[in-house]
Amino acid sequence: MPKWTREPPAHKDLATLPILRAPPRGVLVGQLTSYEMVGCPIHWWRGRSLPCEDHKCPACQNKVPFRWKGYLGFWQPAQSQHSLLEIPAAAADTVADFRLQNPTLRHAIVELKRVPEKANGRVLLRIKPGPTDAKMFPQPPDTERLLAKIWDLPAITADDTIFRRTAPKIKANRDGFSQNLFVNADNDSNLAAPNSQ
Ligand SMILES: [Zn+2]
Repeated sequence: MPKWTREPPAHKDLATLPILRAPPRGVLVGQLTSYEMVGCPIHWWRGRSLPCEDHKCPACQNKVPFRWKGYLGFWQPAQSQHSLLEIPAAAADTVADFRLQNPTLRHAIVELKRVPEKANGRVLLRIKPGPTDAKMFPQPPDTERLLAKIWDLPAITADDTIFRRTAPKIKANRDGFSQNLFVNADNDSNLAAPNSQ
């Protein structure tokens, strides 16, 4: 029998956030809510994203390739929408370099688009410091726990010694944005189509 109630439960589950990717067309603009990026290698396996755990992972055993994906809390004030932004490795380089030059990612303004403008276009990411005085600004997401919930895995936390990188490879443009260069082929076209999570 279902446990019917007349009221919503007092203790809610960990609120989940939608996963957002660069759209096929147009520019996605928002502000980061995370202090740090977190990412891991992901397989597209049996119709869904599956994080690669180790060499015993079923996707690896079936020689399915993986790609590293980075995740960031992403706030779109116009829509009051808080999401987990998923970005490919080349775009994540820009974020990591920006983080080296700034004390935190939180509040940074990010613009994403695809070049060319189609679902498998490469993701161009631009990032610059943003205002810190917004009245409504969400708390940073507990990204690892949220993803573990979405992937139906036990929660684990990233190793925090991630900032081993030395010299940033990027410089801000005159308009204040840093952006990734397309130095290597990297896109997420062999993974989930946008919004197929
Ligand atoms: Zn694997």
